Amino acid sequence: MGSITRNLQGVLLGAPGVTGKRVTTLPKTGLTDFMRSVISKEKETKEPFYVLDLGVVSALFDKWTRTLPMVCPFYAVKCNPEPALLGSLAALGSNFDCASQAEIELVLSLGVSPDRIIYANPCKPGSHIKYAASVGVNLTTFDSKEELDKIQKWHPKCALLIRIKALDDSIARCPLGSKYGALPEEVTPLLEAAQTARLNVVGVSFHIGSGATYSQAYEGAIASTKSVFEAAVRLGMPRMTILNIGGGFTAGSLFDEAATTIKPALQAYFPNEPGLTIISEPGRFFAESPFTLATNVIGKRVRGELREYWINDGISGSLNCILNDHATITCTPLACNSNSANPTCKGERSYSSTVFGPTCDALDTVLTGHQLPELQVDDWLVFPNMGAYTAAAGSSFNGFNTAAILTYLSYSNLS
Ligand SMILES: *Cc1c(COP(=O)(O)O)cnc(C)c1O
Repeated sequence: MGSITRNLQGVLLGAPGVTGKRVTTLPKTGLTDFMRSVISKEKETKEPFYVLDLGVVSALFDKWTRTLPMVCPFYAVKCNPEPALLGSLAALGSNFDCASQAEIELVLSLGVSPDRIIYANPCKPGSHIKYAASVGVNLTTFDSKEELDKIQKWHPKCALLIRIKALDDSIARCPLGSKYGALPEEVTPLLEAAQTARLNVVGVSFHIGSGATYSQAYEGAIASTKSVFEAAVRLGMPRMTILNIGGGFTAGSLFDEAATTIKPALQAYFPNEPGLTIISEPGRFFAESPFTLATNVIGKRVRGELREYWINDGISGSLNCILNDHATITCTPLACNSNSANPTCKGERSYSSTVFGPTCDALDTVLTGHQLPELQVDDWLVFPNMGAYTAAAGSSFNGFNTAAILTYLSYSNLS
């Protein structure tokens, strides 16, 4: 067991996007000490930073392959395009879901072959389709006649998945159904249009919505997929071979719940489909928990019992997830500066606190009514589980450049 773990660690250390960078091996609970060591080295600048734990990435990949071995993951790059995360996932055997030319370029630059990429944006600029054709990315999705016209023009040999609307997605934190997915009555006309255009529709995809908490949604969507496979047979098309169950997965107990829904649904609707390949596009599942964000307390105000703090990342940066991803976040203090005897402030009295981001915008408020011990300027606040739809969607508004935030790599021995 120990040697398997070491081999896996070796694979990750040599992964594209990782090799050549410093990776600090940590004991299971070594993250806080590691962040303190980074902070003590960074005494001058006090810029925010991320720690990406490759041990967590590896454990998540292992969890996926043990729980849903029949479903091949294509990691959704948009969720977090950090090269060390992409390279680690590539080395572990994941494929990739790209949504634009730049994302395809990034994944190819890590040495991933184009047949491991799905261009899973149902509405693509013509020039990006042309680019995909030129580099051999030959699998994409569509949900409109107009998209078929573009594909016929720029990439007529491309294999296609028809994206259908998952009817149950309204409960997800970020539903996608108002924007994407063919309605049931649109499926047959779209398949006919593809037939007329001599395009090759090889399967079906859906997305139950990001941050889904209602795992049963996979069941209804898999049932709908079956009826699309049957519609294709009725139209005399070649048998469909790809079922893409999309994203929407969260690590933890929700993942086990999703698997408990998905496995019987596959059994029920696709019991003996010869040559069927089942794929998925998890983003959040792989990206969320491996990243921890450390921010510096750059300001403070005391108003009676209320404590107000300013930190150097916020709503226009990594913490845009509060607005855009409807994320609920939490943080823990790291009072390295003011309290070296008790840096995590365990057991200390807490105050109702507000945490503001650094920009001159009142909307840039990260937490209100949050219980925190008394902190001083130059202490740190640490945000766990900060890898999904965080830095990927941050801006450089007011000169606070999210893209410049450094990522330190660690490998925790979790077994
Ligand atoms: C955003 C997106 C994903 C990833 O969704 P998660 O909820 O993060 O797993 C997958 N596929 C498509 C087409 C997407 O747009």
